[in-house]
Amino acid sequence: METEIPKLFGTSGIRGKIGEEITPELALDVGKAISTYLGKGHDVVLGYDTRTSNLMMERAISAGILQGGCNVLSLGMVPTPLVGYAAMKLGADAGVMITASHNPSPDNGIKLWNPDGMAYLQKQERIIERIIHEKDFYNASWQDIGKIEDITPVINDYIEDILNLMNIKPGLNVVVDCANGAASYLSPLILRKAGCHVVSLNAQPDGFFPGRKPEPSAANLQELMKIVKATGADLGIAHDGDADRMVAVDDNGRMADFDKLLALVSAEIGGCVVTTVDASACIDRVMEKVNGKVERTKVGDVHVAEMIHDINATFGGEPSGTWLHPQFCMCPDGILSALRVIELVQNKGPLSKLLDDIPSYPTIRDKIDCREDQKDPIMQKAETDLALIFDDVVDVNLKDGVRISFEDGSWVLVRPSGTESFVRITLEGKTEDKALMIHEASAKFIRSLL
Ligand code: MG
Repeated sequence: METEIPKLFGTSGIRGKIGEEITPELALDVGKAISTYLGKGHDVVLGYDTRTSNLMMERAISAGILQGGCNVLSLGMVPTPLVGYAAMKLGADAGVMITASHNPSPDNGIKLWNPDGMAYLQKQERIIERIIHEKDFYNASWQDIGKIEDITPVINDYIEDILNLMNIKPGLNVVVDCANGAASYLSPLILRKAGCHVVSLNAQPDGFFPGRKPEPSAANLQELMKIVKATGADLGIAHDGDADRMVAVDDNGRMADFDKLLALVSAEIGGCVVTTVDASACIDRVMEKVNGKVERTKVGDVHVAEMIHDINATFGGEPSGTWLHPQFCMCPDGILSALRVIELVQNKGPLSKLLDDIPSYPTIRDKIDCREDQKDPIMQKAETDLALIFDDVVDVNLKDGVRISFEDGSWVLVRPSGTESFVRITLEGKTEDKALMIHEASAKFIRSLL
């Protein structure tokens, strides 16, 4: 029965501590399962970030892929977007990235990619899990065992293609912080080739992450902020451990608000953009001004990718800084995202002014304790009845929880926590009073169901 198969994949691939959840034995099984899923004779792009366990994991997963009769197209140490790009560029059949993204040093993980660079969908992950659980592996005979090919020259194609996509005038001063992660070398190199004067920080690959922790949070970016300010740079860029994400620091040394930055770049690109239900309404206001459109989907970069693909959107992203650029590749790309911000600053800058011009709304985030077994009934009731307690509702989005939009641009999202015993309320009000009113009414509604 499907429900009895243990889940290996979380919201972003398989992830955990090396030696506990993540082992070479697991990597071998995942390799065998990918080949079994694809069928013998197919090509699998394989890359890894800067973690200490990567070669151990790479050798094991390669052995599994080869045993199942597929070929390994080996990229070595690269940012995650290179795996998606190489799969697309070379017409491979899948991609595998060994990374734990922004997790701490003792962790590692495995993320799988489709030929167009889109992350594996849940239904594909379920198939891989089933093959592993049932040990239903295809074993190639001696004459059909796969081969390993070095495809590192495709990195030069990536550099060329990504620069051809952009139109950046030279001269901006940019500080880029690579976290000792996978963006080391490549992100500073590409920014220099784009014409920027680049100061690089933590740009030596090191799985101990001695410079800073790989999560690009304000707490971890204090040094970057100080250097941007002290050197009078136009902006700072920081990547996470595998560089599918980036965040920016403005010319005053402040970390750019994630939602506002996403809104600014969306408006530059125009058309129909995709974001998640928990993103701020500032993107709606900014896109209205350029006659653009915003569609919202479930939280998670793969959901954003799926919707971009389905509705043929121009751009999309999560407020976390995971942005997708469908005109290039369906894999989130922190280097291309950085170039987009640089282009924006070059055309319209300075970044501090651009950010300050975007409206801020009073925001409230609250969580209400509730038992696991209460989550479903509460959400069912919220789907049908929450909108009824307000009188100026213009839209109800049920893609991920219940998101209600009001006539004046205010909104509220009620969503069960995936990992903890809470129902979360997130909202923005047009005014402080409106925010308080929406919060009070929503919290009262949920408490009445407990
Ligand atoms: Mg990442």
